[in-house]
Amino acid sequence: MEKKGITLVVQGRFEKIFPDQLARDVEAAFGRQVLVVPFTHDILPYFDAARKQYDANRLLKLIHTEYSAGSFKTIGLFQVDLFIPILTYIFGQAQYNGSTGIASVYRLRNEQYGMPGDEKLLYERFRKVVIHELGHTFGLIHCHVPVCVMRPGTYVEDIDQKNHWFCNKCSSELETAFNNHS
Ligand SMILES: [Zn+2]
Ligand SMILES: [Zn+2]
Repeated sequence: MEKKGITLVVQGRFEKIFPDQLARDVEAAFGRQVLVVPFTHDILPYFDAARKQYDANRLLKLIHTEYSAGSFKTIGLFQVDLFIPILTYIFGQAQYNGSTGIASVYRLRNEQYGMPGDEKLLYERFRKVVIHELGHTFGLIHCHVPVCVMRPGTYVEDIDQKNHWFCNKCSSELETAFNNHS
């Protein structure tokens, strides 16, 4: 069987519309069929008691080994606070030119920064993070075009400043990646 689609693995309870909306938007961004499946593992073993956060490296590995076999690219969508050892937190991470990524909505919520919740803004941020991480799986590196979705960012403000789509250079690299393994 050919593996051409993208799978979204959904952990926990998201805002109602998020997974389906994201499926449509990811499909539009990458021109691939998108499947939404639930995360069925226990998340607790991935909790780091000392940091009170979840281990992103181990969760990425889990998504890769348990959920990615049937599709071209797979991304785990989490509710929980993710970390890697060298950083305070991460919005997401992905295997460069690989098949798997993860992203979390946790640090994208306004409430996290003492501001009133904004579901629409939250969705916009999350969509950008997910498309960014999937971009890495297609071999895209960070881009310095200020509004490109592949621009790196540490804060939610950085995410708010960019678009949810690729600049011309990144689009054409993505095109090449598609042609190389379509
Ligand atoms: Zn990145
Ligand atoms: Zn770019």
